[in-house]
Amino acid sequence: MNEFEAKDKEFIWHPFTQMKSWRETPQTVIVAAQGNKLIDQDGREYYDGVSSLWVNIHGHRKKEIDAAIIEQLGKVAHSTMLGLANVPASQLAEMLVEIAPAGLRKVFYSDDGSTAMEVAIKIAFQYWQHKGLGKKCRFVALEQAYHGDTVGTVSVGGIDLFHRVFKPLLFDPIQVPSPSCYHCRFAASPEECCGECVAAMEKVLAEQHEQIAAVVLEPLVQAAAGMLMSPPGYLAKIRELTRRFNVLLIVDEVATGFGRTGKMFACEHEDVSPDLMALSKGITGGYLPLAATLTTDEIYNAFLGEMSDKKTFYHGHSYTGNPLACAAAVANLRIFQNEKVIEALPAKVETIRRYLTPLRQLAHVGDVRQCGLIVGIELMADPANKVPYAWHCGMGAQVCMKAREYGLFIRPVGDVVVFMPPLSTTHAELKHMLQIICRSVEEAT
Ligand code: PLP
Repeated sequence: MNEFEAKDKEFIWHPFTQMKSWRETPQTVIVAAQGNKLIDQDGREYYDGVSSLWVNIHGHRKKEIDAAIIEQLGKVAHSTMLGLANVPASQLAEMLVEIAPAGLRKVFYSDDGSTAMEVAIKIAFQYWQHKGLGKKCRFVALEQAYHGDTVGTVSVGGIDLFHRVFKPLLFDPIQVPSPSCYHCRFAASPEECCGECVAAMEKVLAEQHEQIAAVVLEPLVQAAAGMLMSPPGYLAKIRELTRRFNVLLIVDEVATGFGRTGKMFACEHEDVSPDLMALSKGITGGYLPLAATLTTDEIYNAFLGEMSDKKTFYHGHSYTGNPLACAAAVANLRIFQNEKVIEALPAKVETIRRYLTPLRQLAHVGDVRQCGLIVGIELMADPANKVPYAWHCGMGAQVCMKAREYGLFIRPVGDVVVFMPPLSTTHAELKHMLQIICRSVEEAT
């Protein structure tokens, strides 16, 4: 065992990890990375098939982002945003407003996806108090939702495995059915879609809008639930309902933002402008922790007043608007412009679609879902009858371990094999990675 693996096993508690099995199994230590590959302690290379947990955008060691961080380091690494402004945070805020859906004009910084969503929830809650409608204090969330791991975001989450144990600690949202087509309880196939998930939302809003502050959702893809994808039009219909019933819409683009769905933001697919939008993960190109909650002038203005009015939003973190992270994010967005990254995506999306075809034929593949560069391959013990594997057999994990032997690092969500490569992945690399996944599924199942 390498020195660092030994230290890891002795001192580190890993996220979402059963440490007993972690300590009992040989582990990979990443020592470097280049382009779309990670390199371990023995010099082995792995494609970064999940973009280092959905954050990496332009590959590793991207020279423009490296240079921007080094340049900023020569100026100031960190100064507080309580009582001070800084250059990269100002530049980035303007750039985010330029690319965001119309109407989102103000940026509140925080550190990760969970805090970006926590901020959105708290702003929505306080907003209605300023409007004299303090009874609007409840949230509508989707079954199977995932918005982070802080107490507020776990409250609006709906994945039983992550949330059950914390239930007594949480506030209680109104849950509505997930719009996932493959798991739909109302229709056997997307073709038979009867819009029941929209109708369920409409019923809740019609009956309870006087108590509801906001609807919270992940647009197009419920990522941590296993890349569950909603039917076309769902997001736009929910936006229409929230407007009709005077309820805010909080869109969590933490996973879908920055090109993952084939457009800069998932909202663009359905021409939706939410009231609040949470961004993180890809915001720095996958380099440093940073998050932003964007909102409208209408909401921002409701917090303006004299000190004595007590309308201030009392929320903030030590590293809010960190100049190094903001400099990385500015460089990230410039690469999008200079290299026409979004324009190159449709061809890559098509390459993925093409090389996913053989997977659909495999005996234990129940569903293959794709939205842009986001792919979920759902394994089933008996796909014809939609019978899942027993939870403890860890089939998704077995497939991912196989893929690692062939030089691809991917992570499962239960028995859904997730593939979410950096946007910089070439066509040849996409083809190779998908061939590895196909072979791994075939051999493991
Ligand atoms: N929201 C969504 C949609 C996510 O997928 C995630 C993380 O996967 C989060 C929020 C939480 O982000 P973080 O892990 O940076 O706190």
